[in-house]
Amino acid sequence: MISMVINIFEPKKQFETYKTQINKIIHSVLNSGNYILGKEVKKLEKKFQNYLKCKKAIGVKNGTDALILSLKAIKIKKGDEVITTAHTAVATIAAIIDVGAVPVIADVEQNFYTLNPKEIEKKISKKTKAIIPVHIYGQCCNMSEIIKIAKKNKIFVIEDCSQSLGSKIGNKKAGTFGDIGTFSFYPTKNLGAIGDGGMIVTNNNNLGKKLYRLREYGWDKNRSTLEPGINSRLDEIQAGILNIKINDLDNANNRRIKISKYYLEKISNKLVKLPQVRKNTRHVFHIFSILVSKRNKFIKYLKKNKINPGIHYPRPACLNRGYKEKCIFSKNDIKKTIFISNNTVSLPIYPELEKKKVMKIVEVINKFRS
Ligand SMILES: *Cc1c(COP(=O)(O)O)cnc(C)c1O
Repeated sequence: MISMVINIFEPKKQFETYKTQINKIIHSVLNSGNYILGKEVKKLEKKFQNYLKCKKAIGVKNGTDALILSLKAIKIKKGDEVITTAHTAVATIAAIIDVGAVPVIADVEQNFYTLNPKEIEKKISKKTKAIIPVHIYGQCCNMSEIIKIAKKNKIFVIEDCSQSLGSKIGNKKAGTFGDIGTFSFYPTKNLGAIGDGGMIVTNNNNLGKKLYRLREYGWDKNRSTLEPGINSRLDEIQAGILNIKINDLDNANNRRIKISKYYLEKISNKLVKLPQVRKNTRHVFHIFSILVSKRNKFIKYLKKNKINPGIHYPRPACLNRGYKEKCIFSKNDIKKTIFISNNTVSLPIYPELEKKKVMKIVEVINKFRS
Protein backbone atom coordinates (compact mmCIF):
# COMPACT_ATOMS: atom_id res chain seq x y z
CA MET A 1 0.00 0.00 0.00
CA ILE A 2 1.19 3.52 -0.78
CA SER A 3 1.56 5.48 2.41
CA MET A 4 -0.73 8.48 2.45
CA VAL A 5 1.71 11.20 3.45
CA ILE A 6 3.80 12.64 0.59
CA ASN A 7 7.11 14.12 1.74
CA ILE A 8 9.47 16.51 -0.02
CA PHE A 9 12.32 13.94 0.06
CA GLU A 10 12.33 10.17 0.64
CA PRO A 11 15.99 9.01 0.61
CA LYS A 12 15.03 5.67 2.14
CA LYS A 13 13.00 4.82 -0.97
CA GLN A 14 16.17 5.12 -3.01
CA PHE A 15 17.94 2.73 -0.66
CA GLU A 16 15.11 0.27 -1.21
CA THR A 17 15.51 0.56 -4.99
CA TYR A 18 19.16 -0.56 -4.79
CA LYS A 19 18.99 -2.57 -1.57
CA THR A 20 20.43 -5.88 -2.83
CA GLN A 21 23.37 -4.24 -4.63
CA ILE A 22 24.05 -1.86 -1.75
CA ASN A 23 24.09 -4.64 0.84
CA LYS A 24 26.46 -6.60 -1.40
CA ILE A 25 28.93 -3.75 -1.92
CA ILE A 26 28.95 -2.84 1.79
CA HIS A 27 29.92 -6.43 2.66
CA SER A 28 32.49 -6.54 -0.09
CA VAL A 29 34.11 -3.34 1.24
CA LEU A 30 34.01 -4.64 4.81
CA ASN A 31 35.77 -7.82 3.71
CA SER A 32 38.36 -5.94 1.63
CA GLY A 33 39.94 -4.41 4.72
CA ASN A 34 40.46 -1.15 2.82
CA TYR A 35 38.07 1.50 4.04
CA ILE A 36 39.31 4.87 2.84
CA LEU A 37 40.55 6.15 -0.56
CA GLY A 38 40.74 2.68 -2.08
CA LYS A 39 39.58 1.07 -5.27
CA GLU A 40 35.91 2.14 -4.97
CA VAL A 41 36.92 5.79 -4.68
CA LYS A 42 39.25 5.43 -7.69
CA LYS A 43 36.45 3.78 -9.65
CA LEU A 44 34.04 6.58 -8.79
CA GLU A 45 36.58 9.24 -9.77
CA LYS A 46 37.07 7.47 -13.13
CA LYS A 47 33.30 7.32 -13.66
CA PHE A 48 33.04 11.06 -12.98
CA GLN A 49 35.82 11.78 -15.48
CA ASN A 50 34.01 9.73 -18.13
CA TYR A 51 30.57 11.05 -17.32
CA LEU A 52 31.56 14.72 -17.29
CA LYS A 53 34.31 14.37 -19.90
CA CYS A 54 36.87 16.04 -17.69
CA LYS A 55 40.50 15.36 -16.87
CA LYS A 56 40.52 15.01 -13.09
CA ALA A 57 37.98 14.03 -10.45
CA ILE A 58 38.85 14.13 -6.75
CA GLY A 59 36.64 12.39 -4.19
CA VAL A 60 36.23 14.33 -0.93
CA LYS A 61 34.25 14.26 2.30
CA ASN A 62 31.31 16.49 1.35
CA GLY A 63 30.15 19.31 -0.92
CA THR A 64 31.24 22.06 1.47
CA ASP A 65 34.78 20.67 1.62
CA ALA A 66 34.75 20.42 -2.18
CA LEU A 67 34.25 24.21 -2.26
CA ILE A 68 36.78 24.91 0.51
CA LEU A 69 39.47 22.80 -1.16
CA SER A 70 38.76 24.41 -4.54
CA LEU A 71 39.16 27.87 -3.03
CA LYS A 72 42.42 26.79 -1.40
CA ALA A 73 43.66 25.31 -4.69
CA ILE A 74 43.31 28.64 -6.48
CA LYS A 75 45.01 30.35 -3.51
CA ILE A 76 42.05 32.35 -2.25
CA LYS A 77 43.15 33.95 0.97
CA LYS A 78 42.16 36.36 3.70
CA GLY A 79 40.50 39.50 2.39
CA ASP A 80 39.97 38.26 -1.17
CA GLU A 81 36.49 38.76 -2.55
CA VAL A 82 34.43 35.97 -4.11
CA ILE A 83 31.25 36.91 -5.95
CA THR A 84 28.32 34.55 -5.53
CA THR A 85 24.57 34.26 -5.07
CA ALA A 86 22.62 34.26 -1.79
CA HIS A 87 19.94 32.08 -3.35
CA THR A 88 21.82 28.96 -2.32
CA ALA A 89 22.54 26.58 0.52
CA VAL A 90 24.39 28.32 3.36
CA ALA A 91 27.28 25.96 2.52
CA THR A 92 28.33 28.08 -0.48
CA ILE A 93 28.81 31.16 1.69
CA ALA A 94 30.24 29.16 4.60
CA ALA A 95 33.02 27.77 2.39
CA ILE A 96 34.11 31.23 1.25
CA ILE A 97 34.18 32.50 4.82
CA ASP A 98 36.03 29.38 5.98
CA VAL A 99 39.07 30.29 3.86
CA GLY A 100 38.99 33.85 5.19
CA ALA A 101 37.60 35.40 2.03
CA VAL A 102 34.57 37.69 1.73
CA PRO A 103 31.40 36.61 -0.07
CA VAL A 104 30.16 39.45 -2.26
CA ILE A 105 26.51 38.88 -3.08
CA ALA A 106 25.05 39.56 -6.52
CA ASP A 107 21.36 39.22 -7.38
CA VAL A 108 19.73 36.46 -9.42
CA GLU A 109 17.76 36.48 -12.66
CA GLN A 110 14.01 36.73 -12.12
CA ASN A 111 13.13 33.94 -14.54
CA PHE A 112 15.68 31.26 -13.70
CA TYR A 113 16.75 32.08 -10.11
CA THR A 114 20.40 31.76 -11.16
CA LEU A 115 23.18 34.33 -10.66
CA ASN A 116 22.70 37.27 -13.02
CA PRO A 117 25.85 38.03 -15.09
CA LYS A 118 24.97 41.73 -15.27
CA GLU A 119 24.81 41.89 -11.47
CA ILE A 120 28.15 40.07 -11.20
CA GLU A 121 29.81 42.73 -13.32
CA LYS A 122 28.61 45.46 -10.96
CA LYS A 123 30.32 43.72 -8.04
CA ILE A 124 33.79 43.27 -9.54
CA SER A 125 36.49 45.09 -7.58
CA LYS A 126 40.27 45.01 -7.36
CA LYS A 127 39.91 42.37 -4.65
CA THR A 128 37.71 40.00 -6.69
CA LYS A 129 39.49 36.68 -7.16
CA ALA A 130 36.72 34.30 -8.14
CA ILE A 131 33.06 33.80 -9.00
CA ILE A 132 31.03 30.89 -7.64
CA PRO A 133 27.96 30.41 -9.83
CA VAL A 134 25.48 27.97 -8.26
CA HIS A 135 23.44 25.86 -10.67
CA ILE A 136 20.50 26.13 -8.35
CA TYR A 137 17.70 23.52 -8.30
CA GLY A 138 19.45 21.62 -11.12
CA GLN A 139 19.43 24.45 -13.67
CA CYS A 140 22.64 25.85 -15.16
CA CYS A 141 23.58 29.51 -14.84
CA ASN A 142 24.25 31.57 -17.96
CA MET A 143 27.78 30.20 -18.22
CA SER A 144 28.83 31.76 -21.53
CA GLU A 145 28.33 35.24 -20.06
CA ILE A 146 29.90 34.33 -16.71
CA ILE A 147 32.99 32.85 -18.38
CA LYS A 148 33.31 35.99 -20.51
CA ILE A 149 33.30 38.19 -17.41
CA ALA A 150 35.84 35.94 -15.68
CA LYS A 151 38.21 35.98 -18.66
CA LYS A 152 37.93 39.72 -19.06
CA ASN A 153 38.79 40.27 -15.40
CA LYS A 154 41.24 37.36 -15.09
CA ILE A 155 39.41 35.72 -12.22
CA PHE A 156 38.58 32.08 -11.49
CA VAL A 157 35.23 30.34 -11.80
CA ILE A 158 34.24 27.55 -9.39
CA GLU A 159 30.87 26.03 -10.30
CA ASP A 160 28.82 24.84 -7.33
CA CYS A 161 27.13 21.82 -8.93
CA SER A 162 25.84 20.27 -5.71
CA GLN A 163 22.31 20.34 -7.13
CA SER A 164 23.09 19.80 -10.78
CA LEU A 165 24.93 16.56 -11.51
CA GLY A 166 23.91 15.67 -15.07
CA SER A 167 22.53 19.07 -16.06
CA LYS A 168 23.81 20.46 -19.34
CA ILE A 169 24.04 23.48 -21.60
CA GLY A 170 23.93 22.07 -25.11
CA ASN A 171 26.01 18.94 -24.79
CA LYS A 172 28.37 20.21 -22.10
CA LYS A 173 27.79 19.15 -18.51
CA ALA A 174 27.63 21.43 -15.48
CA GLY A 175 31.00 21.51 -13.75
CA THR A 176 33.08 21.69 -16.92
CA PHE A 177 32.60 25.34 -17.89
CA GLY A 178 34.74 26.99 -15.23
CA ASP A 179 38.14 26.16 -13.73
CA ILE A 180 36.68 23.78 -11.15
CA GLY A 181 33.29 22.12 -10.46
CA THR A 182 32.12 20.85 -7.06
CA PHE A 183 29.51 18.22 -6.16
CA SER A 184 27.75 16.97 -3.02
CA PHE A 185 26.45 13.47 -2.33
CA TYR A 186 24.25 14.48 0.59
CA PRO A 187 21.52 11.80 0.69
CA THR A 188 18.80 13.91 -0.95
CA LYS A 189 20.95 15.14 -3.85
CA ASN A 190 20.43 13.71 -7.36
CA LEU A 191 23.29 11.31 -6.66
CA GLY A 192 22.98 10.63 -2.95
CA ALA A 193 25.22 8.65 -0.61
CA ILE A 194 24.07 6.99 2.61
CA GLY A 195 26.02 9.53 4.56
CA ASP A 196 28.27 12.34 3.35
CA GLY A 197 30.41 12.61 0.25
CA GLY A 198 31.61 15.08 -2.37
CA MET A 199 33.57 15.39 -5.59
CA ILE A 200 35.70 18.03 -7.29
CA VAL A 201 36.32 18.05 -11.04
CA THR A 202 38.69 20.05 -13.23
CA ASN A 203 40.23 20.08 -16.68
CA ASN A 204 43.35 21.72 -15.30
CA ASN A 205 45.90 18.98 -14.57
CA ASN A 206 47.92 21.09 -12.17
CA LEU A 207 44.89 22.10 -10.13
CA GLY A 208 43.79 18.46 -10.17
CA LYS A 209 47.10 17.20 -8.82
CA LYS A 210 47.09 19.87 -6.18
CA LEU A 211 43.57 18.92 -5.10
CA TYR A 212 44.58 15.26 -4.64
CA ARG A 213 47.23 16.52 -2.23
CA LEU A 214 45.08 19.09 -0.44
CA ARG A 215 42.41 16.54 0.48
CA GLU A 216 44.97 14.59 2.49
CA TYR A 217 47.21 16.87 4.57
CA GLY A 218 49.07 18.09 1.46
CA TRP A 219 50.67 14.68 0.93
CA ASP A 220 52.05 13.68 -2.43
CA LYS A 221 52.52 10.03 -3.48
CA ASN A 222 55.57 9.74 -1.21
CA ARG A 223 53.80 11.25 1.73
CA SER A 224 55.88 14.34 1.61
CA THR A 225 54.08 17.66 1.69
CA LEU A 226 54.39 20.68 -0.57
CA GLU A 227 51.79 22.76 1.20
CA PRO A 228 49.34 22.41 4.07
CA GLY A 229 46.12 20.51 3.39
CA ILE A 230 43.22 19.08 5.37
CA ASN A 231 41.67 15.67 5.89
CA SER A 232 38.76 15.40 3.50
CA ARG A 233 38.87 11.79 2.33
CA LEU A 234 35.96 9.91 0.80
CA ASP A 235 35.35 6.50 2.30
CA GLU A 236 35.04 3.22 0.42
CA ILE A 237 31.54 2.33 1.57
CA GLN A 238 30.07 5.61 0.32
CA ALA A 239 32.04 5.40 -2.93
CA GLY A 240 30.87 1.81 -3.44
CA ILE A 241 27.24 2.84 -2.98
CA LEU A 242 27.69 5.79 -5.34
CA ASN A 243 29.29 3.52 -7.96
CA ILE A 244 26.05 1.54 -8.03
CA LYS A 245 23.73 4.54 -8.16
CA ILE A 246 25.72 6.52 -10.74
CA ASN A 247 25.07 3.82 -13.36
CA ASP A 248 21.41 4.72 -13.08
CA LEU A 249 21.82 8.48 -12.75
CA ASP A 250 20.57 9.43 -16.22
CA ASN A 251 17.43 7.33 -15.72
CA ALA A 252 16.88 8.82 -12.29
CA ASN A 253 17.28 12.36 -13.67
CA ASN A 254 14.94 11.52 -16.57
CA ARG A 255 12.33 10.45 -14.07
CA ARG A 256 12.69 13.80 -12.27
CA ILE A 257 12.35 15.60 -15.62
CA LYS A 258 9.24 13.59 -16.44
CA ILE A 259 7.62 14.57 -13.15
CA SER A 260 8.59 18.21 -13.76
CA LYS A 261 6.90 18.10 -17.19
CA TYR A 262 3.73 16.78 -15.61
CA TYR A 263 3.76 19.58 -13.02
CA LEU A 264 4.48 22.21 -15.69
CA GLU A 265 1.70 20.94 -17.89
CA LYS A 266 -0.99 20.23 -15.32
CA ILE A 267 -0.65 22.82 -12.57
CA SER A 268 -3.05 25.50 -13.71
CA ASN A 269 -3.77 27.47 -10.53
CA LYS A 270 -3.27 31.18 -11.27
CA LEU A 271 -1.96 31.72 -7.73
CA VAL A 272 1.08 29.57 -8.53
CA LYS A 273 4.04 30.68 -10.63
CA LEU A 274 5.84 27.75 -12.26
CA PRO A 275 9.61 27.54 -12.85
CA GLN A 276 11.11 28.16 -16.30
CA VAL A 277 13.71 26.08 -18.07
CA ARG A 278 16.44 27.84 -20.01
CA LYS A 279 16.47 27.05 -23.75
CA ASN A 280 18.91 24.43 -25.03
CA THR A 281 19.67 23.16 -21.53
CA ARG A 282 18.95 20.07 -19.46
CA HIS A 283 17.48 21.03 -16.07
CA VAL A 284 17.76 18.01 -13.73
CA PHE A 285 15.21 19.24 -11.18
CA HIS A 286 16.91 18.59 -7.89
CA ILE A 287 14.18 20.93 -6.63
CA PHE A 288 10.87 21.85 -8.25
CA SER A 289 10.28 25.34 -6.90
CA ILE A 290 7.08 27.30 -7.41
CA LEU A 291 6.32 30.84 -6.26
CA VAL A 292 3.20 31.46 -4.18
CA SER A 293 2.45 34.84 -2.64
CA LYS A 294 0.22 33.44 0.14
CA ARG A 295 2.89 30.95 1.15
CA ASN A 296 1.92 30.26 4.75
CA LYS A 297 -1.68 29.62 3.85
CA PHE A 298 -0.65 27.46 0.87
CA ILE A 299 1.71 25.30 2.94
CA LYS A 300 -0.88 24.86 5.69
CA TYR A 301 -3.35 23.77 3.02
CA LEU A 302 -0.90 21.27 1.48
CA LYS A 303 -0.11 19.82 4.91
CA LYS A 304 -3.79 19.42 5.66
CA ASN A 305 -3.90 17.36 2.49
CA LYS A 306 -0.95 15.25 3.69
CA ILE A 307 1.59 16.82 1.35
CA ASN A 308 4.75 18.06 3.06
CA PRO A 309 6.58 20.56 0.85
CA GLY A 310 9.93 22.24 1.53
CA ILE A 311 11.33 25.77 1.29
CA HIS A 312 14.65 26.30 -0.48
CA TYR A 313 15.54 28.66 1.05
CA PRO A 314 13.53 30.54 3.68
CA ARG A 315 16.05 33.40 3.69
CA PRO A 316 18.95 34.53 1.49
CA ALA A 317 22.13 32.80 2.66
CA CYS A 318 23.75 36.16 3.49
CA LEU A 319 20.94 37.08 5.90
CA ASN A 320 21.59 34.14 8.22
CA ARG A 321 22.84 34.90 11.71
CA GLY A 322 26.59 34.49 11.97
CA TYR A 323 27.06 35.08 8.24
CA LYS A 324 25.44 38.47 7.75
CA GLU A 325 28.36 40.51 9.06
CA LYS A 326 30.83 38.56 6.98
CA CYS A 327 29.23 39.16 3.59
CA ILE A 328 29.20 42.27 1.43
CA PHE A 329 25.72 43.06 0.13
CA SER A 330 22.93 45.57 0.27
CA LYS A 331 19.32 44.46 0.57
CA ASN A 332 18.46 46.90 -2.21
CA ASP A 333 20.79 45.06 -4.56
CA ILE A 334 19.31 41.62 -3.94
CA LYS A 335 15.61 42.33 -4.26
CA LYS A 336 14.93 39.38 -6.55
CA THR A 337 16.73 37.00 -4.20
CA ILE A 338 14.67 38.29 -1.27
CA PHE A 339 11.45 38.04 -3.27
CA ILE A 340 12.14 34.42 -4.19
CA SER A 341 13.02 33.41 -0.63
CA ASN A 342 9.75 34.95 0.58
CA ASN A 343 7.61 33.14 -1.97
CA THR A 344 9.28 29.86 -2.91
CA VAL A 345 7.80 26.44 -2.13
CA SER A 346 9.49 23.16 -3.14
CA LEU A 347 7.19 20.39 -4.31
CA PRO A 348 8.10 16.72 -3.82
CA ILE A 349 10.22 15.46 -6.72
CA TYR A 350 12.42 12.36 -6.70
CA PRO A 351 12.77 9.36 -9.00
CA GLU A 352 10.73 7.03 -6.78
CA LEU A 353 7.74 9.38 -6.48
CA GLU A 354 4.75 7.44 -7.84
CA LYS A 355 2.60 8.86 -10.63
CA LYS A 356 -0.46 8.54 -8.39
CA LYS A 357 1.13 10.88 -5.86
CA VAL A 358 2.21 13.36 -8.51
CA MET A 359 -1.37 13.42 -9.77
CA LYS A 360 -2.68 13.95 -6.27
CA ILE A 361 -0.28 16.86 -5.70
CA VAL A 362 -1.47 18.56 -8.89
CA GLU A 363 -5.11 18.00 -8.02
CA VAL A 364 -4.69 19.44 -4.54
CA ILE A 365 -2.72 22.48 -5.79
CA ASN A 366 -5.28 23.26 -8.47
CA LYS A 367 -8.00 23.42 -5.84
CA PHE A 368 -6.16 25.94 -3.66
CA ARG A 369 -8.01 29.24 -3.24
CA SER A 370 -6.63 32.38 -1.62
C1 LIG B 1 24.15 20.57 -0.63
C2 LIG B 1 24.82 21.78 -1.11
C3 LIG B 1 26.11 22.13 -0.69
C4 LIG B 1 26.84 21.44 0.42
O1 LIG B 1 27.01 20.11 0.31
P1 LIG B 1 27.31 19.23 1.64
O2 LIG B 1 27.62 17.89 1.05
O3 LIG B 1 26.07 19.25 2.44
O4 LIG B 1 28.46 19.83 2.34
C5 LIG B 1 26.72 23.23 -1.28
N1 LIG B 1 26.09 23.97 -2.19
C6 LIG B 1 24.84 23.69 -2.60
C7 LIG B 1 24.19 24.55 -3.63
C8 LIG B 1 24.16 22.59 -2.06
O5 LIG B 1 22.91 22.34 -2.47
